[in-house]
Amino acid sequence: MVIGDAAHAVVQHLSQGGSQALEDAVVLAEELTERPLAEALPAFMNRRFDRARHLQRVSVSEMTSPPSGAADLENLRAEFAQEMAAVRAYLDQPV
Ligand SMILES: Cc1cc2nc3c(=O)[nH]c(=O)nc-3n(C[C@H](O)[C@H](O)[C@H](O)COP(=O)(O)OP(=O)(O)OC[C@H]3O[C@@H](n4cnc5c(N)ncnc54)[C@H](O)[C@@H]3O)c2cc1C
Repeated sequence: MVIGDAAHAVVQHLSQGGSQALEDAVVLAEELTERPLAEALPAFMNRRFDRARHLQRVSVSEMTSPPSGAADLENLRAEFAQEMAAVRAYLDQPV
């Protein structure tokens, strides 16, 4: 089982690498406590895969496609705040 950066390294734009590694560790510990190994590993994947992949993709897109159409700094700030609000709403969902 590979978790953390080894499984889903992110670029730094979301500050999520360490957070996602910790979520992996907590969820893996929960699953291993509650089920036999053969069931715990797929259950872990079910709970973690989409979330880690989503955040990895958002972090890369923040790096490669900065908000476009930002005519000035105020617009850039507003666009970034909007994008981060969407990330925060996503992170508020239970793992
Ligand atoms: C400058 C910087 C700033 C960051 N800021 C943030 C932030 O603000 N928020 C956030 O959430 N994340 C942040 N991150 C990302 C975060 O640090 C990583 O995502 C996180 O540390 C990944 O944890 P990990 O346990 O998966 O891997 P690591 O922390 O890389 O741990 C892997 C460990 O395995 C060891 N190792 C490697 N090979 C072997 C081997 N063969 N045998 C034994 N041990 C081995 C390494 O020495 C290391 O100690 C930042 C990263 C950097 C570089």
